[in-house]
Amino acid sequence: MNRKLFLQHAHGSVTDDGSSPRKPKAMCTRCGCRGTVARLILRSPPAIERYCRDCWPLVRDALAERPVQEYVSRAWSDVERLLSLLPPTTEAATVTALAAEIVATAWDMDGPVPPIVQEFLLRTERGPA
Ligand SMILES: [Zn+2]
Repeated sequence: MNRKLFLQHAHGSVTDDGSSPRKPKAMCTRCGCRGTVARLILRSPPAIERYCRDCWPLVRDALAERPVQEYVSRAWSDVERLLSLLPPTTEAATVTALAAEIVATAWDMDGPVPPIVQEFLLRTERGPA
């Protein structure tokens, strides 16, 4: 992922380097602790915020109330939530693509693969990385 994203604003601009949101030394915007698992890009005022594993679920649940342009996370809870919302009628190709994406980013995720995600990967016949 070498994508570069530039947010322009009258009062300045913010550049997202497209790097992993999981940064051991980055500071959490909410609690100030070190070690983040998610990055949030806001439209106005343009800003990039980072969150730790404890704060991210709380922030994520309130995303609809903020001018969020994009967010990236390496929290397994996001994957678990995505899988729980996946309709049973989802096309096999979509499920396979999702499994491939999960396997491709598993190395960068926060912590070990949760059982629910392991079961999903086994069901789609792609073991965890
Ligand atoms: Zn925090």
